[in-house]
Amino acid sequence: MDEPRQRRWLEEWGGLWGLPGLDRRLRLVFSPRIRRSLGLCRPERGELRLHPALRDAPTGLLREVVCHEAAHAAVHLLHGRKPRPHGREWQDLMRAAGFEPRVRFPPSALPEEVLEATRPRHAWLHVCSGCGARWTAGRRDRRWRCQRCVEAGRPGRLRATRVTSPR
Ligand SMILES: [Zn+2]
Ligand SMILES: [Zn+2]
Repeated sequence: MDEPRQRRWLEEWGGLWGLPGLDRRLRLVFSPRIRRSLGLCRPERGELRLHPALRDAPTGLLREVVCHEAAHAAVHLLHGRKPRPHGREWQDLMRAAGFEPRVRFPPSALPEEVLEATRPRHAWLHVCSGCGARWTAGRRDRRWRCQRCVEAGRPGRLRATRVTSPR
């Protein structure tokens, strides 16, 4: 990527975090291999990866995601491997950069294309063998039963099959 815009942000935060030249120590890439998260950081390699769907995201969102990942790398540079990933050290850096240190974005904060691109591709379709009710869930739990059938005194067993949703 190496866009001047992101370089400038890193330069700015490096100054705030006591890490001058941070922009030259980190590498930013849009990685098609990222699926469900918006970004990730390999602190030991100084590498920040961003979901390609963020390429056209509003500046505020992109800035926050880049800052989130850069702060992971900065914690590593400042404190080594001891701190927890989103612990106090990381939170302090986010605040210093002017962000509320949130770990997840509420869906309402994400543009439709980003939501769509990071949505889980696989889901489990559950069908009640008693009444035929069906719903999908991101995971499967063999203990789940059909509420309606259980309340009517039936076993409410479910048949679960893995489905893939189109992107
Ligand atoms: Zn994180
Ligand atoms: Zn049922």
